[in-house]
Amino acid sequence: MNDFRAAGHSAVDLLADYLGGLADRPVWQPVEPAARERLLGLPLPVRGRGLEELVAEIGREVLPYPMGNGHPRFFGWVNAAPAPAGVLGALAAAAMNPSSAGGDHADVHLERTVVRWIAELAGFPHPPGAGLLTSGASMATIVALGAARSRAALRLGADVREQGLAALPTLTGYAGVESHSCVRKAVELLGLGSRNLRTVASDAGGHLDPAALQAQVRADRAAGLAPFLAVASAGTVNTGAVDDLDAIADVCAEEGLWLHVDGAYGAFGVLDPVVAHRYAGLDRADSLALDPHKWLGVPVDCGCVLVRDPAGLRATFSLVPSYLRDDSGDGLGWFSEYGIEQTRPFRSLKVWATIAAAGREGIARNVAQCTAMARRLGELVEAEPELELLAAVESSITAFRWAPAGVDAELLERVNQALPAAVQERGRAFVTGTVLAGREAVRACLINPAVTEPDLAVLVAEVRAAGAELLKTLGG
Ligand SMILES: *Cc1c(COP(=O)(O)O)cnc(C)c1O
Repeated sequence: MNDFRAAGHSAVDLLADYLGGLADRPVWQPVEPAARERLLGLPLPVRGRGLEELVAEIGREVLPYPMGNGHPRFFGWVNAAPAPAGVLGALAAAAMNPSSAGGDHADVHLERTVVRWIAELAGFPHPPGAGLLTSGASMATIVALGAARSRAALRLGADVREQGLAALPTLTGYAGVESHSCVRKAVELLGLGSRNLRTVASDAGGHLDPAALQAQVRADRAAGLAPFLAVASAGTVNTGAVDDLDAIADVCAEEGLWLHVDGAYGAFGVLDPVVAHRYAGLDRADSLALDPHKWLGVPVDCGCVLVRDPAGLRATFSLVPSYLRDDSGDGLGWFSEYGIEQTRPFRSLKVWATIAAAGREGIARNVAQCTAMARRLGELVEAEPELELLAAVESSITAFRWAPAGVDAELLERVNQALPAAVQERGRAFVTGTVLAGREAVRACLINPAVTEPDLAVLVAEVRAAGAELLKTLGG
């Protein structure tokens, strides 16, 4: 263990320097071609090496080439800076290396606690057993929609686990225009067929229209289909829009639909009193997917699925061979009875550490800082004649485009499409692009509480500079 101790100290020094130095480096730079070749071409080592040497190599060959998240001016996709407490939690979890499937060990009990904490943070009801940690929201969505499918089948008098879907009328689901691709993936994987996931009309702000949902459900039912599921968003990826969850929950109650809320990115926005009202009705969902590895800054991977009915979830997934019998006595069984993974990583320790280091107050403060900065960025965009704000800032994503007067519309499209990569390569800020209502757009996601107003000013300046450069190269 002396080798581990010494190399471990070196590793912590290295990582402290890395984390502490991020803000002084370019946000992101392409990997140098020679370094890329080295990483890609690493031969399988024949002989082993000492831990100190490996730590040094990590410092030389890996840490210089980060994705960019961690830097206060990384606004790309929905990728968080790692909470230092979570990094330490991940290290300790790896040292213990249990399988958090079930049994009487600390990891299992901690997972029950942090899932309850997550539910409390999101304001979601949490009877014992009603949720678990997952690899991410994509897996959380598969688990939730699996439970929805089981319940729908039961109501139609079938056991989908035994009979499959053949015994059933066409189970039909509904999601908004801006719903995340993981919803469709889950529907496809569960054998429901993506054509049976209807896209419901949205308003101009990208919110699923509850009246359109109800009309479509009724028309489909009249046509012999079996509507069973609606998916609402508590923060879309493109604009951070939060659906009218209360109104959608009303429709679901009336029409007997399972309501799944995708809160992967946005659910923790409910902690900010300024925007909390947008989340009214979140607690009425049958299931909620969230990603502690996003706004909470828990190191990847960590998603979470919460459900209203733990027994229904267990009935969907429980399959207990004799070598995995649960003798723990709390009656809840193993986590592996509530989802897909059997051997499961010790995710809860990094969640525990991340939440414990900040406290509920600290987390709420961080969330509020992010939403305030996103709104501020919206103001900066609106004050800048060359830029156009494309959506009201509802949570912490600001969508806009570079649109100086007098530039041909088709050229503007090409410039905006190329803009995120151009900004990224300049190295001072990192944004990503999307298509909104058929137009190329830039969207900045603010989930790093270290972001400050000067960072926003840099982003605006970088977008303008990159836009002007692109106009020359693409327009000339
Ligand atoms: C990130 C995200 C997902 C997918 O979650 P993963 O953790 O990447 O699997 C789903 N929905 C929304 C709104 C997201 O932001």
